[in-house]
Amino acid sequence: MAVRVINEKCKGCSICIKNCPFDAITMVNKIAVIGQACTGCGVCAEKCPFHAIEKVEEDKAHIDLSQYKGVWVFAEQRNNKIMPVAIELLGEGRKLADQIGTELCAIVCGSNIESLTEELFAYGADKVYTADYPELATYTTDGYTKVIFEAIEKYKPEIVLLGATHIGRDLGPSLAVKANTGLTADCTKLEIDPVDKKIKQTRPAFGGNLMATIVCPNHRPQMSTVRPGVMEKAIYNPSHKGEVVKLDVQFHEGDIRTKVIEVIKTLHDAVSLTDAEVIVSGGRGLGNAEGFELLKELADKLGGTIAASRASVDAGWIDHSYQVGQTGTTVKPKIYFACGISGAIQHIAGMKDSGCIIAINKNDTAPIFDVADIGIVGDLYQIIPAIIEELDKQEA
Ligand code: FAD
Ligand code: SF4
Ligand code: SF4
Repeated sequence: MAVRVINEKCKGCSICIKNCPFDAITMVNKIAVIGQACTGCGVCAEKCPFHAIEKVEEDKAHIDLSQYKGVWVFAEQRNNKIMPVAIELLGEGRKLADQIGTELCAIVCGSNIESLTEELFAYGADKVYTADYPELATYTTDGYTKVIFEAIEKYKPEIVLLGATHIGRDLGPSLAVKANTGLTADCTKLEIDPVDKKIKQTRPAFGGNLMATIVCPNHRPQMSTVRPGVMEKAIYNPSHKGEVVKLDVQFHEGDIRTKVIEVIKTLHDAVSLTDAEVIVSGGRGLGNAEGFELLKELADKLGGTIAASRASVDAGWIDHSYQVGQTGTTVKPKIYFACGISGAIQHIAGMKDSGCIIAINKNDTAPIFDVADIGIVGDLYQIIPAIIEELDKQEA
């Protein structure tokens, strides 16, 4: 959906400007002009007392799908370090690109990011689009949307993949609205039809009780955000090289409406659940926040990290960034300890692919035992200290 001002009808009353929730309208020569920030929400069309703004349905017949080529991966970086999910997306993107005989590209935004291109080539990108500007030093929805949307308009990728990180979940919908295309959020599986080149994007639906497969038949690019930790990482090959395309971006006043004053890192920054090889996770069975200190003791001994079920997060015992599951992080460690976790489907969705699942629960009928490789029935406050003691003995 888009909107258009009918100049002959516009009286310059400014009512639309006051009502636009996205500050997307300006007055030029007493006529309303709709700018880049427009999301197509349609509020202005409803508010204009002179019916001078009309909603324009896109004419599907006018989109020539064959113009769109290439698989793009949004190479999210933080502090000039490529996020692991971007490497996973390059791995998945490579498979999709090979199946439809097209190129795999990465697009990276930031400031002083030149050094990242070699890494992206080594992870399989054939081409890297870079936008290296001080305005992009920290993520803003407006800045990144402007740059990537302009690149999409110019180079017309047929597929754009983003990580379902905080940034990807913000940027993906913003880009999809501007590009007037669909977006499937939080995918856990991607497949492509090599003939019609439509991606089948699968994601959990209805509280994880069924998997929905979604296609985007009439619009391009096809866009997905993909859960971190689900796809296999691309293989690193430093001899793989490619082409750099520097994006020429002109920033104008008002293009970026937010200013990042300070980035406050949470103490969780040191922990990466998706990369951890050992995770000791605690649920409501811990009974209190202090229980995580015991779990941390075990995790430290094994060189791992702690995590949590949603019940622990909801109880305020631990930050949400530690949550494993459907509405948390998907993890694939070598060893996953589930301590005092019942094994609800939404929790299992986020850890079932772990190498070895060790469940500690005092209820022998808890569903967690159905997915566990090793099940220990008993009180975690007796069992975990016993495991720690045993590890201490082995160390000694
Ligand atoms: P409980 O189900 O209360 O289980 C506690 C367990 O601890 C019990 O099995 C009990 O026997 C055991 N226990 C108690 N004391 C001890 C002890 N001393 N020693 C050993 N065992 C003990 N949940 C998630 O985890 N992640 C998600 O991402 C998530 N997303 C959701 C999304 C939606 C849309 C919905 C509806 C729910 C979601 N949930 C999620 C919530 C999920 O349904 C469960 O409510 C939650 O996982 C339960 O957490 P729990 O296992 O810690 O608590
Ligand atoms: Fe023009 Fe309608 Fe906006 Fe008034 S509300 S400035 S008439 S488009
Ligand atoms: Fe603003 Fe929505 Fe109108 Fe676009 S459609 S100009 S975002 S009110």
